[in-house]
This record gives sequence, structure tokens and C-alpha cells, in this order.
Amino acid sequence: MKFIYSNDNKRYHTLSFYNNQKYGEKVLKASINAGLTCPNIDGKLGVGGCIYCEGGSGYFTNKNLSIKEQISAEIKRQTKNGETHKFIAYFQANTNTYTDIKTLRKMADDALSFENIVGITFSTRTDCLDDEKVAFLQELNQKTDVCVEFGLQSIHNKTLEFINRCQTFEGFEKEYLNFKKSGIRTCIHIINGLPYESYDMMIKTAKKVGELNPDGLKIHSLHITKGTKLASIYENKPFDLLDKQTYIKLVANQLTFIAPEVVIERVTGDGDKSKLIAPNWSKDKISVLGGIDKFMKENDLFQGKNL
Ligand code: SF4
Repeated sequence: MKFIYSNDNKRYHTLSFYNNQKYGEKVLKASINAGLTCPNIDGKLGVGGCIYCEGGSGYFTNKNLSIKEQISAEIKRQTKNGETHKFIAYFQANTNTYTDIKTLRKMADDALSFENIVGITFSTRTDCLDDEKVAFLQELNQKTDVCVEFGLQSIHNKTLEFINRCQTFEGFEKEYLNFKKSGIRTCIHIINGLPYESYDMMIKTAKKVGELNPDGLKIHSLHITKGTKLASIYENKPFDLLDKQTYIKLVANQLTFIAPEVVIERVTGDGDKSKLIAPNWSKDKISVLGGIDKFMKENDLFQGKNL
């Protein structure tokens, strides 16, 4: 069986396949911390943030540098032997539309001052976009490839309350569907392994996300990292974690409920290994990726199979 959106053994629509089709080459990401906060941290909606939050996981060059300096450092870090690459400017830390239009415009202008930036991705919440900001993003989308990433994590309100998300699924859905009318590319994040969620609950989350029809989907494994509220909850009262094989089976099956056109931008987490408390298996990303490919092949699964 050959999956239509793949030119290798993958049975799901990878980001590298999408980028190769669209840009004719591999496209890298420059992760940026624009120094913004989040309404779930500063008291507008909540205090302290989501229990697993570190302000947006991933690699940040140095948040004290300007946006341009961060992008330069990111390009330099990922460019070897004089090669040139295309990059997406990825405003990743915290909530990247939780600011005024002037700042948003400056963030975009700084990113677009680099010739090899071919797109801008804003990681944000659905409740941090008003009409003025959406109009600005539409205007920006005429100049570059804009993508807006929304954290959902789970469709189960009990879980959203436990993780202090300060948002219900119904609120997310309404705002998300409204944003979708803008025509701007969207990506939704979900997390597998959140405390007290069953396998079936996580499958339901994937099914519902499939119905929301995003352009992209990121599936993360829950990471318990040092210094987070989640770490102290886990240390005081450990909850069940997904084991590696269950995670692999879960993701493989979740993908069968997602339309083949949806770009699967991630199927596991990629956090700072030195800060990871659990689950230990998630440190070996290659093995998880290989396990998903193997499981899908052995069970004749592919993205969208169960639609
Ligand atoms: S919404 Fe995002 S940035 Fe804000 S607290 Fe939650 S995970 Fe952190």
C-alpha cells in the first residue's frame, strides 16, 4: 500500500512531504521568543499557566536578544557547510497574538526582513484574536505564508479544568471555527497522556479534531518537566503514564480519524531532555517514530482509514 501524501514508507502526511511539495525543499524553523506573556499566566484568565507550561517548549536562542538577533542566531545554528535553507519564523513562546497590532506588525516586519524566511507561524490561543488582528493576519498572508497554531490539548472539559487551561472545548470550537473563515492556515495541538485520561478519551479527542478539519495537526506526548506545576502534582500523587507501546498504538489509531490532506506536523514531543522527569521513553524520538511506522504497516493502518 502506498499512502498518497508520502514519498517514503510513511502512512501519514508528514510536514517534510508538505514542505517538499510546496517549497521544493526541506524547510527549517527559527524558534522565537518575542517576550510576550499569556492571559493564562498574567491573571487575565488565570494565574500560573497550564500545569505543564514552560512558556512554550522547544529551543530558544536567547530571549533577551531582539527578534532579528534570534532569527539570525537560529539560521546560523541550523546552517552548516555554507548551505542555504528556507525558514519559517516560528513565534513559539507563550501566546503570540496576546499583544497590540503595532507589536504584531513589528514582529512580522522583523521576520520578513530576512530573505530566506518563507512563512510565519504564530502559536496562540483562540481567545486571543479579535477582528482587527485577524484582518492584520489576512493582510500578512498576502505577503507570506501565515499559519496560526492553536493549543487545544484535549476536548474533555474535566481535563482542561485539571490542567488549568482556562478554556472550555466549546469556547475553543466556537472561536476556532470563526477564525477558520479567515482562510488562514491553522494547526491544532493535542497532548496524549494527560492525567486521568483513558485511551478512548484520547481517541475521541482525535476524532473531534478531525471534524474541525485543521490544515495541520501536532500530536504531543505529555512531558513532565522539572519546575512545572505538573511535576509537583506527579511527585506528590503519581498518576498513570502512557507506556511507549500504548502511545504508538494510540497515535497510529488516532491518525486513522484524520483526513489525509491534514499535515501531521508532529507525532511526539521534543522537549528539553535534561529537564524531563517522565516518561523516559519519550527521550528516544527516533524509536517512537519508527514504532508508529511499524505499527501502522503491520496493522494496515493509514491516515484517514476510518473516515
Ligand atoms: S496557554 Fe500556552 S503559553 Fe499560556 S499557559 Fe497554557 S501552555 Fe502556557
